[in-house]
Amino acid sequence: MIVYFAAGAKAWPEYEAPLTKALAGTGATIVTEAPDPAAVDYIIFAPGGDIEDFTPFTRAKAVLNLWAGVEKIVGNPTLTQPLCRMVDPSLTEGMVEWVTGQVLRFHLGLDRFIARAPHWDQHVPPLARERPVAVLGMGELGAACGQVLAGLNFPVTGWSRTPRDVPGIRCLSGDVGDALDGAQIVVLLLPNTPDTQNVLNAETLARLAPGAAVINPGRGPLIDDDALLAALESGQVAHATLDVFRQEPLPAEHPYWHHPNVTVTPHVAASTRASGVSHSIAENIRRGEAGEPFLHLVDRTRGY
Ligand code: NAP
Repeated sequence: MIVYFAAGAKAWPEYEAPLTKALAGTGATIVTEAPDPAAVDYIIFAPGGDIEDFTPFTRAKAVLNLWAGVEKIVGNPTLTQPLCRMVDPSLTEGMVEWVTGQVLRFHLGLDRFIARAPHWDQHVPPLARERPVAVLGMGELGAACGQVLAGLNFPVTGWSRTPRDVPGIRCLSGDVGDALDGAQIVVLLLPNTPDTQNVLNAETLARLAPGAAVINPGRGPLIDDDALLAALESGQVAHATLDVFRQEPLPAEHPYWHHPNVTVTPHVAASTRASGVSHSIAENIRRGEAGEPFLHLVDRTRGY
């Protein structure tokens, strides 16, 4: 069985040992070049990887994406093989830690204590139970983050395309404005699809409580950037922490870099860790070989 690591030569040194270990005993031969594409059984892929045309991979049983987001591959018309996205406990743990950290930073007003001059400011924040949080996206990552925040007593409202039932979270689908109404913090954990682009725009930002925080570890196109900058100017949004952008790296001249109330992090909210995700890749290959259904198949019609 041939497994083609087509996630880019730069990534291979990090993956070589954990993937080899995870696939030991499966009969897999991992290759980093595929002179005969028709002999490849599985393709491990990442955006910016080594394949643009999937047509010659006639035997491939699946394309296994190393990223959770698939917007860069899902529309590839040459891709007819099943596409699986990355869901892995290490990715979820990383996202929960990052989101919880950013929420608590805003909630506790920690930035005001960065010492610039002697200033004895005994700011008392509200309790978490007085700080409504909206989490847009109730999938693997959104539900996990929402539940940890709910465990800290934040009243959490979750929003998804289809109705969900997540313990501890008020779950809504339908009009996004209903989920945003009065929220003091909004966390975006939606995929980038034609339906989710600009979900935060002038109209929906106005549904938040004045002085709210926007936290976006989802994807850049979820936000209408001009509308967010206007909301930051008016004070409707007090702070934005943005991990993802329409163009990455974020261009040096972008106003986000220079805005005093914007924190830019360079797409690091939940990094793919080779040791963790190698097990998830190996599990899907095991399933493929056993004739079992793949985990985390992407629905091409939905785009995620
Ligand atoms: P997921 O399990 O597929 O969950 C996606 C959620 O979004 C689901 O609840 C889904 O609704 C909802 N959704 C999709 N389209 C919608 C629409 N039109 N209206 C309302 N809700 C909609 O994805 P995930 O694993 O949680 O990941 C979410 C996103 O996080 C990824 O797509 C990726 O863009 C981003 N991400 C970022 C990083 C980073 O480092 N910054 C790392 C990993 C992932 P249903 O429940 O009804 O399907």
